[in-house]
Amino acid sequence: MMSKNKGVLIVISGPSGAGKGTICKKLIEKNKNIYLSVSATTRSPREGEIDGVNYYFLTKEEFERKVKENGFIEYAEVHGNFYGTPRVNVNKMLEEGKDVILEIDIQGALQVKENFKEGVFIFILPPSMEELKRRIIKRGSETEESLMTRFKNAYKEINYVSKYNYAVVNDTLELAVSKVEAIIAAEKCRVDRIKDNTILESKEGLIHEQLYD
Ligand code: 5GP
Repeated sequence: MMSKNKGVLIVISGPSGAGKGTICKKLIEKNKNIYLSVSATTRSPREGEIDGVNYYFLTKEEFERKVKENGFIEYAEVHGNFYGTPRVNVNKMLEEGKDVILEIDIQGALQVKENFKEGVFIFILPPSMEELKRRIIKRGSETEESLMTRFKNAYKEINYVSKYNYAVVNDTLELAVSKVEAIIAAEKCRVDRIKDNTILESKEGLIHEQLYD
């Protein structure tokens, strides 16, 4: 019997200003089977951000309650605020064969790696540190202090690229998005992910013929 392949869990990290948010947005616009998990955070909404769309904005008490209830797949303190991936939905979507993106920091990604061995871990790199600085300043949504914190963290974070499966330099948006799409496409072809027995069993004779005749 044909059983559905599980969706791919894609974890995307990278320093602020590397452009991971824009890449993720473009990916979900272009690919209807890819879902972006909405995180919870204790940070205040930025202008234009909507509760339940960009983040679930929680108080520290609400966040702590959810931690106690084991409501997060992972959570971490980033730049002085808490962020976490709600457990509900992620498992369900993967079971339904939908691909799920988590755009989370390195501490969170390392926690996910412990529990989702089959996850695909992608690190987004800026073309250069100079360009990264320019992008963070251009964004303009940060106070001077948080800008410095983000920049210092970016230097440290880049060392963690080796913990990931793939590194994508975000030189131009289109190219970076197509590289991530290629990674996802390749991962879906991995034999250890294919559950659809019709490919591996009923075609056995055919594959055998092609390989050995
Ligand atoms: P921002 O405040 O700019 O939206 O996000 C700051 C950082 O928090 C980014 O590096 C982002 O990837 C990370 N982040 C967002 N959501 C989560 C989450 O659910 N878990 C973790 N660990 N990090 C998150």
